[in-house]
Amino acid sequence: MRKLPNIKILDEKNSVLHKKSKEVVFPLNEEDKRRINDMLLYLEMSQIEEEREFYNLRAGMGLAYVQIGILKRIFVISEELEDKKFRNYVVINPKIKSASEEMIYVGEGEGCLSVNREVEGIVPRHARITVEAYDMDGNPFTIRVREDIAVAFQHEIDHLNGILFTDKIDKNNPYKDMDKMREL
Ligand code: ZN
Repeated sequence: MRKLPNIKILDEKNSVLHKKSKEVVFPLNEEDKRRINDMLLYLEMSQIEEEREFYNLRAGMGLAYVQIGILKRIFVISEELEDKKFRNYVVINPKIKSASEEMIYVGEGEGCLSVNREVEGIVPRHARITVEAYDMDGNPFTIRVREDIAVAFQHEIDHLNGILFTDKIDKNNPYKDMDKMREL
């Protein structure tokens, strides 16, 4: 069994999660590079059943820096492609350049490693977005993402702006506009 990286994730009750993160100035220091790799390993392990159960983790594919209490505009996503094979994304200072008109939502509801409860309702998301960002070495890149990865990117970019998915659900009408969107 691999050793679980020391990642402490803040709960939604912590007000830091509602603060806006700051732009990153390059180069990243070694500590940040190590932390980013730790966050990715944590997400991978949370998606592998044996490791998830051994360490009693919740499965998650995305994590923003603010969730570990650091207000820098960095997030990571680890997408399981096939059994124990992952595609990892490191996204720094992201900007959404364009977004599809088509909206989608996660049918079973979105999840978040900072929200440890069942949440009723859906969150409208763009089906496709184009994002400009920087990698760990400070190189700019443009990426077009769609479907579940587009949802994950929008969820994480919201974190950088101090917004949780629960903030986007209308309490009085948690399934508002469901008929105008496609279920994912
Ligand atoms: Zn989240």
